[in-house]
Amino acid sequence: MKLPITGGCLCGAVRYEISVKPASSFNCHCRTCQKALGAPYLAAMLVPSSALTITGNYKEYATIAASGHVVYRAFCPECGTALFGRNSAFTKLRPVSASTLDDPSIFRPQKDIWVADAQPWDYMNPDLPKFDGNPWH
Ligand SMILES: [Zn+2]
Ligand SMILES: [Zn+2]
Repeated sequence: MKLPITGGCLCGAVRYEISVKPASSFNCHCRTCQKALGAPYLAAMLVPSSALTITGNYKEYATIAASGHVVYRAFCPECGTALFGRNSAFTKLRPVSASTLDDPSIFRPQKDIWVADAQPWDYMNPDLPKFDGNPWH
């Protein structure tokens, strides 16, 4: 994987750079991701917060996760692209949307999470481990 990893929103107003290899990669099929993205699931990489450099102004929308923690979802106020997030309880790592990478083909999902919320038409790779909810706690 070539570093830094770069990406940004549809209009280009918000850009980001990731200076290290992601800690993990997953597809989240939860209902909140479906709504927030207007897509069947979120393809995301967890990256160290200290390794994520963001330029441009973005807005955040807060939701309460099943865990009770606040999840902030960041999007470009100009074009609406959902870019990254942060969790009030896990500040060391941040999820970044793999679909917003300049080269999304480098993304290698390792697991499917919140598959209990997945839609029947959301086809998943049968070879990936599946978790009904959040596998981290
Ligand atoms: Zn934009
Ligand atoms: Zn989700």
